[in-house]
Amino acid sequence: MTTADHDPRLDAYWMPFTANRQFKQAPRMLARAEGMHYWTDDGRQILDGVAGLWCVNAGHARPKIVQAIQQQAGEMDYAPPFQMGHPKAFELADELAKLTPAGLNRVFFTNSGSESVETALKMALAYHRVRGEGSRTRLIGRERGYHGVNFGGISVGGIVTNRKMFGTLLSGVDHLRHTHDPARNAFSVGQPEHGADLADDLERLVALHDASTIAAVIVEPIAGSTGVLIPPQGYLQRLRKICDQHGILLIFDEVITGFGRTGQPFASQTFGVVPDMITAAKGITNGSVPMGAVFVQQAIHDTFMNGPAHLIEFFHGYTYSAHPLACAAGLGTLATYADEGLLTRAATMADTFATALHGLRGLPHVVDIRNFGLVGGIELAPRPGEPGKRAFDVFLDCFAHGVMIRTTGDTIALSPPLIISAEQIGQIVETVAAAIRRVV
Ligand code: PMP
Repeated sequence: MTTADHDPRLDAYWMPFTANRQFKQAPRMLARAEGMHYWTDDGRQILDGVAGLWCVNAGHARPKIVQAIQQQAGEMDYAPPFQMGHPKAFELADELAKLTPAGLNRVFFTNSGSESVETALKMALAYHRVRGEGSRTRLIGRERGYHGVNFGGISVGGIVTNRKMFGTLLSGVDHLRHTHDPARNAFSVGQPEHGADLADDLERLVALHDASTIAAVIVEPIAGSTGVLIPPQGYLQRLRKICDQHGILLIFDEVITGFGRTGQPFASQTFGVVPDMITAAKGITNGSVPMGAVFVQQAIHDTFMNGPAHLIEFFHGYTYSAHPLACAAGLGTLATYADEGLLTRAATMADTFATALHGLRGLPHVVDIRNFGLVGGIELAPRPGEPGKRAFDVFLDCFAHGVMIRTTGDTIALSPPLIISAEQIGQIVETVAAAIRRVV
């Protein structure tokens, strides 16, 4: 990169998951956010169609969250989480445990989705060891799964680009096939009809490895980052049943689906399947302060607690676990969700969203449309020789026309703040439609 084609003040920051060279030639700078909107540094208003990055579920700069963070910063900036506590950590865990599915009432705090995944995987391995079945060391993920970017997460994850640069990863990992089946399920509204049988892949892996070697299976109820893949009817139920038959823990990665995205606080509740652990992040603080959490079945937690009383039960934690600012933000967030009924609002808006989204069927390049609650994907045919580029051009066009979307491969992903109005859904979908018509 030469200094002639960009501003050298942009050089130092190595941006994550970004085409740095392209970006720095034509930067997109966000300066402010409120409610459903961002504003760019040159004052353009942008309607937020992705809740920032699937996280700002209550919309931006909500007063209770802002005030909670400001007050906490003045009162106590930091508290060590090891062998010490602070009231808001306990209060937040207690409030969260009221929202989680039955039994998942123990909460371990982290700082991100990636850390939640690592924590859950380690907890699963340690759990089997603590109860005397240490041979269960194998972890099962799924093709097209996204579980963050740490080594455990990319190992159980199923995205080649996130894996291939980084060597051999964790050993003892296997994968289920993904559930995307456009031949049978294209343009399904809500849950696709076909594909529950894909859960039987787990039986195949049990036959191959033996259940006594398998610790846990991790899947996203809805795979978000790899194109919004909705679980086929009956698939998650079948996975739960097979796990139960073989003593395998089931982990749902709800980093995206948690906190109202599907019409209930958690997708586990929406789909009626209770896992053994849930990994969460993003919406837990409405994206305002980094925080993640693992929600754990009480029986799993109690297995650790039944060990020798003088020992630390689980040798794991982060300097910033249960950070006071994050806990304050989390309490402000839950209050905001509760005040406005946001954790079930996606159910109210789902039909409007689905109708608008599926109205794009028939536009050039559109090969599939998928939706559930307030999350949706519009898949385009890739431009020959340039995978992902056509959808990215739609993103650029939408951004230029005042709407923020996200693309993953050739899928356009929408997951707006849960406060969105019907009119704003219309604006997003019309902007996307116009962009699709403009791209080649
Ligand atoms: N799991 C899932 C399902 C996710 O969607 C994400 C992030 N999009 C992560 C884990 C990782 O979260 P983070 O970026 O906060 O580490």
